Amino acid sequence: MIESFGEIGGIKIKRYVLANKNKMQVKILNYGGLINSIIVPDRYGNFRNVALGFETIEGYVAGRSSYIGSLVGRYSNRIANASFVLNGETYTLPANNGKNCLHGGAKGFDQYIWKTEETIDGLRLLITSPDGDQGFPGNLQVEVNYVLNDDNSLRIMYRAITDKSTPVNLTNHAYFNLSGGADDTILDHQMQLNADSFIEPDKDLIPTGNIMPVSGTALDFRTSKKIGQDINTIPGGFDHSWVLNNSGELKHAASLYNEKSGILMHVETTEPGIQFYSGNFLDGSLTGHNGKKYSKHSGLCLETQHFPDSPNRPEFPSTILNPKQIFRSETIYKFEMQSTP
Ligand code: BGC
Repeated sequence: MIESFGEIGGIKIKRYVLANKNKMQVKILNYGGLINSIIVPDRYGNFRNVALGFETIEGYVAGRSSYIGSLVGRYSNRIANASFVLNGETYTLPANNGKNCLHGGAKGFDQYIWKTEETIDGLRLLITSPDGDQGFPGNLQVEVNYVLNDDNSLRIMYRAITDKSTPVNLTNHAYFNLSGGADDTILDHQMQLNADSFIEPDKDLIPTGNIMPVSGTALDFRTSKKIGQDINTIPGGFDHSWVLNNSGELKHAASLYNEKSGILMHVETTEPGIQFYSGNFLDGSLTGHNGKKYSKHSGLCLETQHFPDSPNRPEFPSTILNPKQIFRSETIYKFEMQSTP
């Protein structure tokens, strides 16, 4: 199903509604290729929207810096000093996060209006980011496939090719609240991360170069615990990159559970890292679905990706895509419900 969702600069914005046989629905916009809502059954057989989002395109434009539900690129997360050297050449990017470049620069993929093609079980989105876009080299063609399966999993498959070597790090920036808004924050959600270590950040969330064990720190989510349990020991809240225990295969990365709804979400990915961001900068100024004000910790992101600042960190897994190579990445968000309260 396709619905109209207003327009931007004379271009019509469309909302695509994917549905499966269990009546789970995922709504996606061609603007930012973003996830507008994810509607899943709870333990009572009622349906709840577990993804933050807005009812109007104006809401998204006003809330742009929160990247709610967006596809993020060319480079998710931060590149230090908004520059990198590749094959002897220095590339300068927009500094849109202090002196650093965040989420692809001033006009990232979240602001693109993507070309869309409906597929048998989902939606394909396509863009071409031209050579020099936000300072990045090469014409980059990007394809993202959202697939909604009957086992209540949403698969996101990313693919890209380039004609010049360039960094690529793509993710989706959905904010989840598995209570469907019944809990104002995600602090009571239980979370588990399949990660023994994390990338130590400096005060601007740029990697120091140290990879630290989570053991004995507030970042230890190896066994499921409430997000609120240790959050107060981290100034501002969680906004870190965890090193997943995986090897490039599609593997369990995280699980998230809300007691009130009984909704359990599993995250699987081929990516080596996950940025868990606890919605620290939501400040109540944006009003989303059902008139909900989005305040600090109203939702959380589990952004599957490579590590921050990899173009400047040769010791991290490479994010460089070369001509004749194909960038591929896959992430699955799967929803289940626990029947016993
Ligand atoms: C970053 C946060 C940032 C948020 C919204 C997250 O991916 O890690 O620091 O505030 O995106 O822009």
